Amino acid sequence: MLKKALTFSYDDGVRQDIRLIELFNKYGMKGTFNLNSGMMHPGTLWHYKDEVPVYRLEPHENLKTLYRGHEVAVHGVDHIRLSEASREETVHEVIDDKKALSEMFGYDICGMAYAYGAWKDENLDIIRNAGIRYSRAVKTTHSFDLWEGDMLVYQGTCHHGDADIFELAKQFIEMKPDKPQLFYIWGHSYEFDYGDDWGRMEELLKLLSGHDDILYGTNKEVFEYFGMI
Ligand SMILES: [Zn+2]
Repeated sequence: MLKKALTFSYDDGVRQDIRLIELFNKYGMKGTFNLNSGMMHPGTLWHYKDEVPVYRLEPHENLKTLYRGHEVAVHGVDHIRLSEASREETVHEVIDDKKALSEMFGYDICGMAYAYGAWKDENLDIIRNAGIRYSRAVKTTHSFDLWEGDMLVYQGTCHHGDADIFELAKQFIEMKPDKPQLFYIWGHSYEFDYGDDWGRMEELLKLLSGHDDILYGTNKEVFEYFGMI
């Protein structure tokens, strides 16, 4: 059994996922992509930092082929802030997204990431009862230790833009742990278009790739491997 695993989590289902998945596939990485089933249309176009156009991928764009080998997960039908949502809105946002995405991709989707990293403790039962086994928030732990809290409020290691990410990557590669360690990186693929940050990401993937003591898996795969879900 491997003691180290690496996984990625990317939100919103945007055009830039295509380029990111090419990089993931080139370097043997696996990721989880959190999609909003109600926003897959041109009316959702916006500009990141007033500059980078963010187009959502649409259902006719061969999404099954694009995301093959990776995991698709829930991000809410309409990307609303669940910390401010009623129970009815939470049911719609989570259960209807899970249903639509499971139908679209042909498997039972069981993962999730919170839009804006926001949730409400009193509505977690809705998410749990919907069959969601883990849901990611956006805090930075800078840690590889397995998350010991509720998997419905999972916190990963860091965002890909973290100033310490190369240092963390080197530490991770060199460590010979006697207990399971997980490197969990999250972000949005459109962020790489701002200031053309794709080269930095490719450098990171190259550094982390090809190590036979690291399991490269989707969120679900690594969580299952380490018995976290
Ligand atoms: Zn989002």
